[in-house]
Amino acid sequence: MQICVIPGDGIGSEVMAAATAVLRVLAPDLTLCEAEAGWGVFQRTGVALPAETLAAAREATAILFGAVASPSHPVPGYRSPIVELRRTLDLYANIRPTIGPGVDLVVVRENTEDLYSGRERLEDDGNTAIAERVITRTASARIVRTACELARTRQAAGRPGKITIVHKANVLRVSDGLFRTVALEVAADFPELTFEERLVDVAAMQLAAQPQRFDVIVTTNMFGDILSDIACIHGGGLGVAASSNLGHGRALFEPVHGAAPDIAGRGIANPTAALNCVVMLLEWIDRTHTAERLRRAMDAVASEGIRTPDVGGDATTREVTEAILEQIATQA
Ligand code: ATP
Ligand code: MG
Repeated sequence: MQICVIPGDGIGSEVMAAATAVLRVLAPDLTLCEAEAGWGVFQRTGVALPAETLAAAREATAILFGAVASPSHPVPGYRSPIVELRRTLDLYANIRPTIGPGVDLVVVRENTEDLYSGRERLEDDGNTAIAERVITRTASARIVRTACELARTRQAAGRPGKITIVHKANVLRVSDGLFRTVALEVAADFPELTFEERLVDVAAMQLAAQPQRFDVIVTTNMFGDILSDIACIHGGGLGVAASSNLGHGRALFEPVHGAAPDIAGRGIANPTAALNCVVMLLEWIDRTHTAERLRRAMDAVASEGIRTPDVGGDATTREVTEAILEQIATQA
């Protein structure tokens, strides 16, 4: 089984070094192939997502993606490789779990349409800006189905099997009206689950104040982007949060954080988010026992106080990684 590893820029390559070290020990039979993408390779070659990388990503069973830096001003020819990868491979479901004290929830975000349709324009001599919000039956149905299947799997592991459908159909009557209608149609196929609806503003408030009431949240692209960042607060922040992008039997796992140029090169990036990506990957290829071993090793190391500075410690990326590898070695 082939795993394509795309470290990218900045701390992306630092945390992916930790991820591959752990994966080599936990799953030595997997073939890891490394590929380039991002601002660094663009500056050298003029291409941010080389054809070989795309080919390697297509061939692999799963992709581990670090982070890419993006220039702060538009650069001709530069397009974000992660956005390209999601679009080219049609990785339509963005899954962002949050686990914290009393909290175990997942935001399932549609990844391909909505206000990210790219249809923006100026009219009226530049005095009116218009963005088109695209919602389709197909994309809505497949994202809600993905959320329901996830809720069902979690239910088997003791979670309540509850889906919160988040929209703003009272204002966006046509677009979110369609999303809502389709979501409720799909819901009928999952009688074992409980469904509730929330307007996005209410959902945001409740997610901030009472995150423990949620299990699986399913929503459109932009609402999901915003809600998952709120959820992230309850799970220990950016150094910890991991996400997956799924579609057509493929999966790409990436930390929620970026290339973090402010700390890049100093060896102090928190590898936890990247290692949580490895946990998700192992679960996705049905190696739940191995995933659990990694989770236990990470918990043990964190509770020994071996932590990077962003979570209140003074350990380096390497020290945390070595400690986790030692824990794994001593496991029965
Ligand atoms: P990008 O444009 O690539 O997203 P950014 O400047 O937005 O870069 P992020 O990577 O999103 O930076 O990080 C935001 C802040 O969180 C930065 O101060 C960064 O140092 C910190 N941070 C993010 N990830 C980590 C991590 N894994 N370990 C420690 N600190 C982190
Ligand atoms: Mg960022």
